[in-house]
Amino acid sequence: MKTYYDQDADIKHLKDRRIAIIGYGIQGQAQALNLRDAGCDIVIGNVKDEYYKRAVEEEFRVVPINKAAEEASIIIVLIPDQAQEDVFNNHIANNLKQGDMLIFAHGYSIHYKKIIAPDDVDVGLLAPRMPGKPIRDYFLEGGGVPAFVDVYQDASGKAWQILLAVAKGIGATRAAAMHITFKEETETDLFIEQFLLPLLIRGIRLSFDVLTEEGFTPEPALMELYASGEISELLMMAAKSGIYRVWKNNASPTCQFGIYRNSEKILPTKSTKKLIREVLGGLRDGSFIEALSKEAKSNYSHLHKYDVDNENCNLTKTQDRLEKLIKYRTS
Ligand code: NDP
Repeated sequence: MKTYYDQDADIKHLKDRRIAIIGYGIQGQAQALNLRDAGCDIVIGNVKDEYYKRAVEEEFRVVPINKAAEEASIIIVLIPDQAQEDVFNNHIANNLKQGDMLIFAHGYSIHYKKIIAPDDVDVGLLAPRMPGKPIRDYFLEGGGVPAFVDVYQDASGKAWQILLAVAKGIGATRAAAMHITFKEETETDLFIEQFLLPLLIRGIRLSFDVLTEEGFTPEPALMELYASGEISELLMMAAKSGIYRVWKNNASPTCQFGIYRNSEKILPTKSTKKLIREVLGGLRDGSFIEALSKEAKSNYSHLHKYDVDNENCNLTKTQDRLEKLIKYRTS
């Protein structure tokens, strides 16, 4: 696997090229600010609303999406994945010129062929592995957030040079810009969302429900489960030292013995691996995409129902009470 760093990328490839950031949201804001600080010529494409106001306040020139796509020769699509197909077809496609480059922060639209780019434009992936806030904060500290990069279509013969220059502009090559395919990025990203996150979130919810049913006080139970931030701190440390060493170096033998003794019982190897393959299968055979598109057509009816249930559950109410009890949190 090839990994690129600052010395492999040159901002000079962005000289005389205007970059359109489509969407001034979580990724859009951070990437636009970093690229501007790196000396790039930026225009923001956004409809007039709160995001538009924020971009104007931060002294960007903001124009309608079609105009931004028309003006720029590098178009970074940073709106939610489900909105990309319509926005591309209605506002971007007709404004692309030969030699332009389209860049996505997630492989979804290209991998699942929601967007088919014209043959004469470059198509790249620059997928930071973190939300916007750390992308901006690390950049200001002189660092960067790792990203996955790929070129899907190299019409100009310069797609990699341009992509890596943009990766440098957002700070990604200060950390690591790793080459994986659009397919691999899309499937691993969705897999984490559909296996690891449910495991964690539902594990917390069911533990909280049973602990409180068994008479434990809700606020300390939630504090212990995740709200103190202890587990997130340990996971941050694990990102650097390793998921096993972090416990070895920071937890008691009692804790370590408890983890490993119970792991197989909670997630038996055979049935869990089967489940993992089922989740991956759903991403590969199109069934997840079909279910998602049905959900979108119903105006996210299930998602709204989950939102209402989650907002009204005892865990969320406890979270609100607990938050008032904690006087200091790091940013
Ligand atoms: P956001 O939800 O923050 O995007 C909000 C922006 O998209 C706003 O400018 C909003 O403007 C615009 N937008 C939303 N809907 C539409 C629409 N229908 N038409 C036009 N503009 C729209 O997105 P993210 O930054 O989270 O995600 C952007 C991309 O980055 C996605 O591909 C995502 O997978 C990827 N990504 C996200 C990460 C993250 O941490 N969030 C991490 C890595 C990749 P308005 O409301 O005015 O329309």
